[in-house]
Amino acid sequence: MKAVVFEKFGEAPTIQTVPDPKPAPEGVVIKVEATGLCRSDWHGWMGHDDGITLPHVPGHELAGVVVAAGKRVTRWKAGERVTVPFAVGCGRCFECNSGNHQVCEHQTQPGFTAWGSFAEYVAIDHADTNLVRLPDEMDFATAASLGCRFVTSFRAIVDQGRVTPGEWVAVHGCGGVGLSAIMIASSMGANVIAIDLTDEKLDFAKKIGAVATINAATTTNVVKAVKQITNGGAHMSMDALGHPTTSFNSIANLRRRGRHVQVGLMLAEHARPQVPMDKVIAFELEILGSHGMQAYRYPAMMEMIRTGKLKPELLVGKKISLEEAPAALMAMGGFEGIGIGVVTKF
Ligand SMILES: [Zn+2]
Ligand SMILES: [Zn+2]
Repeated sequence: MKAVVFEKFGEAPTIQTVPDPKPAPEGVVIKVEATGLCRSDWHGWMGHDDGITLPHVPGHELAGVVVAAGKRVTRWKAGERVTVPFAVGCGRCFECNSGNHQVCEHQTQPGFTAWGSFAEYVAIDHADTNLVRLPDEMDFATAASLGCRFVTSFRAIVDQGRVTPGEWVAVHGCGGVGLSAIMIASSMGANVIAIDLTDEKLDFAKKIGAVATINAATTTNVVKAVKQITNGGAHMSMDALGHPTTSFNSIANLRRRGRHVQVGLMLAEHARPQVPMDKVIAFELEILGSHGMQAYRYPAMMEMIRTGKLKPELLVGKKISLEEAPAALMAMGGFEGIGIGVVTKF
């Protein structure tokens, strides 16, 4: 099969012909029909992720059709249209048994711990626990765009952030994660403030539900601005970018008993940012992480998509071919454009 391969961290990936994958006894092989481009692929390529062994095929936001299933797979067979969360649970450990497959102790991640979906085919283990059936009306590009940023935002807003109608929600960073979070929080009845460095993204944020925007490039004190708009601070706030400044602001702009959810990745030199811990104590703030979403939580989100309350297709950006993927991946280190780029031609 054709695949995007890199042999050294930070060196240009190339298109190569590599052996087709075979399904593990509990796994499947999926013919990839769409796969999203993500900043975590860039981190992986740069060598910021210690789970990767070289040579490597990136790609973890995928949708496609099952072509082969291992002998112990009972729920899936060839021909079914599926997607999968990026954190694949083992289905057996304590966390999986308690319903928290997103933090499985033995989790695998396509495109990180194993070869990923920047290829014609990808192998996914523990299929019965992790595969999600696609609704007939959902196209593959939209399905692929859910895999990482959209589901992580859904869990961050709904399950971790516990947002309720009428609350103020601040979203720092309007890339794929941030825009997804704005759409989801706003569909739940929250009042959302979008914060970013570019007016173009803030205008788009308004179109998908933000009721207020702050341009952090031209606002000297973002925390103060959030407190003014919200009359005292946000109830829930998210760092969707993953930067010491946005992380700090997202905690500092909370009102008493507020919840901060960290979704933007903090890696390499950003791994241990400053935290206003004095405020965490005095205001009884909660600091939470959010890491993907369990396959069994997808149906709630899929129903909101089916009924039109959520429109992830609006967040799909450029569609490109596998040949264009290496250059697009290397460019992910810069600031994201609007929308999630998806490879749809293999
Ligand atoms: Zn597990
Ligand atoms: Zn991703």
